[in-house]
Amino acid sequence: MRMYDIIKKKRDGYALSDEEIRFFVDGYVKGDIPDYQASALCMAIFYRGMSVDETTALTLAIRDSGDVLDFSEIKGIRVDKHSTGGVGDKTSLVVAPIVASLGVKVAKMSGRGLGHTGGTVDKLESIEGFKVDLDSKTFIDTVNRVGIAIVGQSATLAPADKMLYALRDVTATVDSMPLIASSIMGKKLAADDDCIVLDVKTGSGSFMKTEEASKELAALMVNIGKKAGKKMLALITDMDIPLGNAIGNALEVKEAIATLNGNGPEDLTEVCVALASNMLYLAGHGTEEECARKVKNAIADGSALNTFICMVKAQGGNGEWIKTPDLFPKAMYTRNVKAEKSGYITKVDTEGYGISAVLLGAGRNTKEDKIDYSAGIMLLKKTGESVKQGDIIATLYTNDETKLDAAEKKFLSCTFISDEKPVLRPLIIDKVE
Ligand code: URA
Repeated sequence: MRMYDIIKKKRDGYALSDEEIRFFVDGYVKGDIPDYQASALCMAIFYRGMSVDETTALTLAIRDSGDVLDFSEIKGIRVDKHSTGGVGDKTSLVVAPIVASLGVKVAKMSGRGLGHTGGTVDKLESIEGFKVDLDSKTFIDTVNRVGIAIVGQSATLAPADKMLYALRDVTATVDSMPLIASSIMGKKLAADDDCIVLDVKTGSGSFMKTEEASKELAALMVNIGKKAGKKMLALITDMDIPLGNAIGNALEVKEAIATLNGNGPEDLTEVCVALASNMLYLAGHGTEEECARKVKNAIADGSALNTFICMVKAQGGNGEWIKTPDLFPKAMYTRNVKAEKSGYITKVDTEGYGISAVLLGAGRNTKEDKIDYSAGIMLLKKTGESVKQGDIIATLYTNDETKLDAAEKKFLSCTFISDEKPVLRPLIIDKVE
């Protein structure tokens, strides 16, 4: 078999066989296939697409490129949740402790920030002492004892995805349906969970910009997961507007703590309750209504927050910071961003808001960049709200004063104000089962 022929076949619009897909993935991980051939194939897939069978074959080849984990020592049903990526999306920090406090096990492997989107692992590392690299015995013991552990993906889990993602990131081939589906599901199937709830984002802050594309992606991933024997469902949720008010690692952790305390922003709380209820539902904890009631109780009676504190302590983090969020270090420099005119915020470019946060130091421009955990943005006015010229619409935070101007400029260029009050779509747009 020759890589040249595989590229040509896909370039000309033909379906690849399972053997050809495995030849590519295995050869790329071994180093036998160079980046330039892999990127040519990714571009051919971007343009020509893949059938469900091809996407499934690619997913399984990615899964099998490294360790396939065994969580059988974890007692009880294991549920995972995965988001396709967004801005201000701190839902994992809220929903995972909620469902763990209700007796479902959460053995979670999360990612770092990617492009304009944030990552759970970076957010957790903003907590003093928090370790995201537990060995497998400690990981499993923690899940059995506390109900939850969240770690970074190990180097040996789905290495083909790591290599392909890095390549796609620099070859304009991220936003391809089969490549996203196989990337996410390849990792998810390498972990040993019983149920998976997908949060497929849609809108200007997500990789899928239209509802139609997001629904198609959701159906594809649910289909692949079911074929592999997992209980699956997906919610399509809005990412035209950042979720909550905080963008940036420590700011988002503090907002997640407020949400676990019952004082979070309404939009974030609504999406978290929906995701957590569906995780419980999939794990067989009752009807959707019963699960929603249990989720709200776990927030109201403090058990979800308590589980989060126990997880933080079990993973070496300073639990006092969770009890007293004012202990998180504050950024040295702040700037208030003011509305340039009066009217309604009719829409925002959420991806641009994410980039503005990255410019402040909340994300990486290169793999080697160090994150400024206290950097980010607090939104004071969001889409649909009325503003007067000069009103403060956001506050920027950073430890590098030189970053403020570019971040402010980017932020303002992504905020659109006009006289017309916009009609907002619901946050939970659809459910794919
Ligand atoms: N998240 C992933 O893990 N992979 C993608 O391709 C996109 C989002």
